[in-house]
Amino acid sequence: MLTTLAQELGTPTYIYSADLMREKARAFQEALRGLPTLVCFAVKANSNLAVLNLFKESGLGLDLVSGGELARARKINLAGEKIVFSGVGKTDQEILDALHYGSKGIFAFMVESMEELARIEALAKTAGKVARVGIRFNPNIDAKTHPHISTGKKENKFGIEEKDVLKSISQYKNSAHVLIRGLSIHIGSQLIDLKPIERAFTKLKKLADTVHAKNPLEFVDLGGGLGVPYENEKIPSFEAYGSLVRKIFGKSPYRLVFEPGRALCAESGVLLSRVLIRKKAKPQDFLILDAGMNDLMRPALYGSYHPITLVSTSATPKGQKAFRIVGPVCETSDAFAMGRKLSDSVAPGDLVTLDLAGAYGFSMANQYNTRCRPAEVLVEGNQYRVIRPREKLEDLFREESTQ
Ligand SMILES: *Cc1c(COP(=O)(O)O)cnc(C)c1O
Repeated sequence: MLTTLAQELGTPTYIYSADLMREKARAFQEALRGLPTLVCFAVKANSNLAVLNLFKESGLGLDLVSGGELARARKINLAGEKIVFSGVGKTDQEILDALHYGSKGIFAFMVESMEELARIEALAKTAGKVARVGIRFNPNIDAKTHPHISTGKKENKFGIEEKDVLKSISQYKNSAHVLIRGLSIHIGSQLIDLKPIERAFTKLKKLADTVHAKNPLEFVDLGGGLGVPYENEKIPSFEAYGSLVRKIFGKSPYRLVFEPGRALCAESGVLLSRVLIRKKAKPQDFLILDAGMNDLMRPALYGSYHPITLVSTSATPKGQKAFRIVGPVCETSDAFAMGRKLSDSVAPGDLVTLDLAGAYGFSMANQYNTRCRPAEVLVEGNQYRVIRPREKLEDLFREESTQ
């Protein structure tokens, strides 16, 4: 299949398994069975409309972080009551668009600052609407993940500290245009340890109960963040995560909102790429791929690990050898792996996959070096469909002028 896809569509190409995405969505919901939940897929992990629609059909809502993502939700006709809108810097237009979404707006804005809350109230007033909100609580917890994707410490830009959460509740108690309906947290991404999650849940529960005693809350939003085994890390299972949720919130009066992204789609995708050049060098040869940091940014951005698999080689397999596997982009940081072992027979024209690339892959891709973003393909059983053709060169500068 991969060889055929490379021949028919060219490389680099993102390939996703619909079956595995559906299975993940099912398993996540199964782990929370019996609880009152709203599970919203975090659109930024993989925003392709076909993927969003697949998750919608699996019963999920969407967690957004921009007006652009709201437009994607509209495109798949998702009901407003299944949408939460997070993000530290929403523009007036984005807030208005969400207030006017469908007939009743969205389920809730997750508000990240006192200033934003005031803006939302003012805009809802002008629009003659009522904004349902959740306050994103910053629990000041170290999620023990990469610093660039840690979001729950007090020095991070995300969320509101406890005393201001309480202040906002009393301040907006009688507001005609802002209804504070819940509290939320999201302490980081690629979490591989349940302990910080447990501490965050416990703090959130305590704060929610304090608020709820005087000002009834409808929901708590437990965020996303569950990791995936990029490098054989031991990741808590959905069941273990579900048990933790049950332990802390099982008997609580709140509806439980979740915002998983990576855990539902990372393992379902690969980036298929061809080796362009095997460049002799000391101490290790370079394998220069036709995929670069613009196509899959995570290694350059966070030093992330992706498994790399040799799909096919024309030569007879030999022993393993360590390679420096890089992209063609004119940046030293355009490297996928250093000292990675592959068969010594690897040669130009061979295909490789960068694995676990279904999350934060295409959605972070860009056109740096005037490179077209890859095609995206959804495989279902033994069928496939192109859910986004490879970008065309003329699209890259269609709107530019030469003067
Ligand atoms: C990015 C993000 C998520 C999803 O995180 P994953 O690690 O992909 O599960 C959920 N909620 C918020 C607020 C986010 O910013």
